Amino acid sequence: MPYTLAVVVPTPAHSNISGPLSYQSELPLAAGTLVRVPLGRREVLGIVWDEEAGAVQTGPEVVTKPIAGALDGIAPLVAGWRQLVTFAARYYQRGLGEVALAALPPQLRDLDGTQLARRLKRVTAADSPGTLSAPLPPNAEQAAALDAISASAAPFLLFGATGSGKTEVYLQGVQRMLQKDPRAQALVMVPEINLTPQLQERFVTRFGAGAVVAMNSGMTPAQRLKSWLAAHSGQARIVLGTRMAVFASMPRLGLIVVDEEHDPSYKQQEGARYSARDLAVYRGMIDGAAVVLGSATPSLESWHAADKGRYTRLSMAARASDAQDAAPPGFPAVRMVDMNLQPKRTVFSPQLLDAIAQRVSRGEQSLVFLNRRGYAPVLACSACDWKSDCPNCSAYRVFHKIDRTLRCHHCGFAERVPRACPSCGNVDIAPIGRGTEQIEEHLGELLRGVRQPGGEPARIARMDADTTRLKGALEEQLARVHAGDVDVLVGTQMVTKGHDFRRITLVAAVNPDSALFSSDFRAPERLFALLLQAAGRAGRDAVHAAASEMWVQTWHPGHPLFTSLRRHDYPGFAAQQLKEREQAGMPPFAFQALLRAEARTQEIAQAFLHAAKAQAETLPDAAAVAIYSAVPMGVQRVANVERAQMLVECATRAPLQRFLAAWQPVLHSLREKGLIRWAVDVDPLVI
Ligand code: ADP
Ligand code: ZN
Ligand code: ZN
Repeated sequence: MPYTLAVVVPTPAHSNISGPLSYQSELPLAAGTLVRVPLGRREVLGIVWDEEAGAVQTGPEVVTKPIAGALDGIAPLVAGWRQLVTFAARYYQRGLGEVALAALPPQLRDLDGTQLARRLKRVTAADSPGTLSAPLPPNAEQAAALDAISASAAPFLLFGATGSGKTEVYLQGVQRMLQKDPRAQALVMVPEINLTPQLQERFVTRFGAGAVVAMNSGMTPAQRLKSWLAAHSGQARIVLGTRMAVFASMPRLGLIVVDEEHDPSYKQQEGARYSARDLAVYRGMIDGAAVVLGSATPSLESWHAADKGRYTRLSMAARASDAQDAAPPGFPAVRMVDMNLQPKRTVFSPQLLDAIAQRVSRGEQSLVFLNRRGYAPVLACSACDWKSDCPNCSAYRVFHKIDRTLRCHHCGFAERVPRACPSCGNVDIAPIGRGTEQIEEHLGELLRGVRQPGGEPARIARMDADTTRLKGALEEQLARVHAGDVDVLVGTQMVTKGHDFRRITLVAAVNPDSALFSSDFRAPERLFALLLQAAGRAGRDAVHAAASEMWVQTWHPGHPLFTSLRRHDYPGFAAQQLKEREQAGMPPFAFQALLRAEARTQEIAQAFLHAAKAQAETLPDAAAVAIYSAVPMGVQRVANVERAQMLVECATRAPLQRFLAAWQPVLHSLREKGLIRWAVDVDPLVI
């Protein structure tokens, strides 16, 4: 009598199979066992699942097939991992099979049991430990944080300015965990791949190369499998990775660190739109692992959770200044330039330019950022109203002077700049607005007479998505900055992220105002984080810290955001923002989900959303949620696809979750001709 198994298989995103399928096996197999099973005409990798996970789909039309084989060379995925995946699929409204199989390294699909066992052996015969660096004696705040982290698992919010010693707390937190249980494992997450190497270096020198594995999308399939096996088999003590690492199979997880927890990169923006930070908190709870969320500018969600006592706040050297209007000692002074007092069309105020020139002549470095790449965001005709629209998108094509192209940043459509206006033939077509390319060019002219200490002219470099497109280009440019071969670095916000620029003593935001009055309610939060993180880049070298400055050119110098910024006062900023959010009933005081639709026409996209709304009204919990009207997305058409969305909101999480679950089958059943795809985004970051 064969055994019946519930097996999770990789179902396509929009199939209506959301749970496991039934298969037969001659032998009983434990939940979590990897198996190969027939699915349609293919044979796929599946995972034996817990019976209680939901209705196994059987019926007169389904013949229960036998499994093709079990990958018994490797241990089953543990219950905690299965619970994490089940939760993620349910919470983010995706198929269990889609989430579960996407969480495994792709190469696992192609290997049989024997091959896997061989790979596993190679992992087990691990590397020898390298030189181990000694931990630094912790200061009082670090010691208090470490004591708290090793005493309980409750999520911690480690709030500390850049350079306050958070990473040292992560390192010693791992060390204490290993002292208690030498076989325990730690998961350390960073928002971006290019931040991995410098952190990996610190973990490797402390714990040895054999103890640490990386996990991110930049790795080859073979490397990913190797890391995964090292973590899954319990060989790797520390997994260091980007958001995908939250799903790493780690049977003895004792500590989870989410560094720069406020970073939007932790939210997946396609497929299952999960927040790795939020899943980390959930995972810590089910595995009994301590969770540490670290940031100098925490997300308002986490800050609010700490206010309410759901997270334990651990603060490190991040006190706001006692002075009304000045930075605390040891932090860069914030200099505001009131652009209302500058002549029209000023790009660089004389004060800022002078400050940069002084840096150059002293041999120090400056960082100038502007959130717009290209030369100018739009090209326009002075005679008619032609503008460089993209034919495929509801957006302008950006003028790139360097190769004289008009390029759409949404669909990639590029053409050479026309000699004359395509509409009226006028030859006087001109750029409007400024991007990094133009800032770089302009700064070059303005600093022409300025010399380095050795008498050489100032060296200006640009770093943005255009200059770092080629593999290795980013690393090469960063190396040039570190080597001191650049005096002024111009770039997009990319340059403000995590890089340890010790010799930069001036950081300038040339035109950050648009975020102050954005329709996106999270824009001020992101701007404040960006500016404070950027300020943290200046003067990390103690010798230069005293002379470091953060410059902000603005038309709104009295804005409360800048008042808080001048004092490096994140708590003050957060309190003010949270008050506004509470009054407006915005997250974290409300919970949101978006239903997004893409279609041939805007009418079709919206018709789908209207139908979804109409059918929602009869669902249980519908009374508890507010369903707003369907609206076109900010950039409504991309690559000739029309996009619309509809916001669903609720004061508490549970009814929203119940409503979304009940809504799923309804959404799957709607058939709108011309609809391309739809998706639900739970806790969306961009609305
Ligand atoms: P963060 O992660 O908050 O930016 P780091 O942990 O990287 O801060 O610390 C910043 C610098 O201070 C590093 O060079 C680190 O080696 C040093 N540091 C951290 N903690 C201590 C300590 N307790 N004693 C001496 N130096 C420390
Ligand atoms: Zn014209
Ligand atoms: Zn386009």
